[in-house]
Amino acid sequence: VYRKATIVGGGLSGALFAIYLARRGCEVDVYDARGDIRHEPPDPIRSVNLTIAARGLDGLRRVGLDQQAIDKLCTVLRYRVIHDSDGPVRRMSYGVQDHEVLYSVSRTHLTQFLLDVAAAEPGVRLHFHHRLVDLDKTTATATFFDGTGAIKVVRADVVVGADGAGSAVRRHMQSGLCADFSREYVPYRYKPLSIDAGNGDDAGLDPHGLHLWPRGDFMLFALPNQDYTLNGVCVLPAHGPNSFDSLRTPEAVESFFGEHFADAMPYMPRLVDEFLGRPASGFSTIRTSTWHYRDKVVLIGDACHGVIPFYGQGMNAAFEDCVVLDQCLAAHWRDWQKAFAEYERRRRVNTDTLAELSLANFTELRDSVRRPSLAARSKMSLAAYRALGDRAAPLYSLVSHSTTPYSECVRIARHRQRVARMLGADLAVACLVGAESVKRRLKPGRDRRS
Ligand SMILES: Cc1cc2nc3c(=O)[nH]c(=O)nc-3n(C[C@H](O)[C@H](O)[C@H](O)COP(=O)(O)OP(=O)(O)OC[C@H]3O[C@@H](n4cnc5c(N)ncnc54)[C@H](O)[C@@H]3O)c2cc1C
Repeated sequence: VYRKATIVGGGLSGALFAIYLARRGCEVDVYDARGDIRHEPPDPIRSVNLTIAARGLDGLRRVGLDQQAIDKLCTVLRYRVIHDSDGPVRRMSYGVQDHEVLYSVSRTHLTQFLLDVAAAEPGVRLHFHHRLVDLDKTTATATFFDGTGAIKVVRADVVVGADGAGSAVRRHMQSGLCADFSREYVPYRYKPLSIDAGNGDDAGLDPHGLHLWPRGDFMLFALPNQDYTLNGVCVLPAHGPNSFDSLRTPEAVESFFGEHFADAMPYMPRLVDEFLGRPASGFSTIRTSTWHYRDKVVLIGDACHGVIPFYGQGMNAAFEDCVVLDQCLAAHWRDWQKAFAEYERRRRVNTDTLAELSLANFTELRDSVRRPSLAARSKMSLAAYRALGDRAAPLYSLVSHSTTPYSECVRIARHRQRVARMLGADLAVACLVGAESVKRRLKPGRDRRS
């Protein structure tokens, strides 16, 4: 059966899913509210770097794009580099096997790459400056305002909502249905800040790590680019002391960074201008019960499961949606309603789990990563993993380096934790923490470089 699809949103998931649908012989029109990111100057607010891991790479691999993306666009990340406010810089490895790494990639470059590939597929047409303003879900008819203010009405067999957290497709599709929907913001905001990491020699910031400055109630993190610059993200409370609200003058910004991020400051020559000149954005979790309407409308990516970005999994999960939805379409090619229902059943329980994992990891990155007990636990679990192999893979490895469904990862990890506890892991962690603290007290100098 030959089908005509309208994809609303030409961001990461929309561009990738256009490729999947085209390879199944569909005619695909992709509409995005913005201009063509391939020909416009990058927007510094949106062009943060993202980590891509096993699930995202799997989504690219199935259409033959993973290696090209890695070679052309990515920087390998082998560990977190933790810049504590006291004590030496530490590294926390992302895994024990060679392939257990993350990759840092610019959102802009990856989107440009996927749009180029999509545009070259027979049957795919891209339309920019087209904002969805209405949707008749019973007939898959979408109405757009184009860049000139004119209205365009497009009818297809199916509408795919890949239009991100504020999805207009979701809103129109769920109107009149008894759909549960929630969008919860954490009381924090972020601003992207650029960091010049030096030239990759010992004096600069390590170009193979995700740099993290955890400070309890606020943090700075940075992901490298291929040219020894890093894209930093500063996360502060929305209001109150040490918040974006309270830091409003060059003096206040300089003194705050001087006090809390002194080792990063020399690499941030444009700090004050960027900090004061850029708007602060929020982080939210989106949960919703209704991901499709009959065989006419279906949602993918942030439109149905936005998560806060602290497990680095939002885009990875969005690419995994493309894989699962494609599998469901292949299994029920003649009955897309059945395909959409199965896709929602397989995905929702897992993306709800990811939402919880992402919230918990925010606390870890901001705060608990500073605690010696967490470092000791992480060392212990990696040692067990090294010794026992896959049977002892920790939660982080299951989530980031495998395609095991998220809820299954949590079930396996909880079981392993119970067994480890019974075998005395807590006591071993306590001994490790004690030994580390003695070592720290005996160590004369402190090396603050990474
Ligand atoms: C600071 C930050 C860091 C992150 N880090 C990571 C990370 O390290 N790893 C990771 O996996 N994920 C990360 N994420 C999450 C990731 O960015 C998202 O999960 C991902 O972008 C979702 O892709 P999407 O295609 O669903 O939505 P988007 O990328 O938001 O794309 C939506 C598209 O729809 C278009 N659109 C919106 N409304 C309309 C409309 N009415 N009509 C037409 N078009 C419309 C928009 O212009 C846009 O192009 C991060 C997010 C943030 C904010």
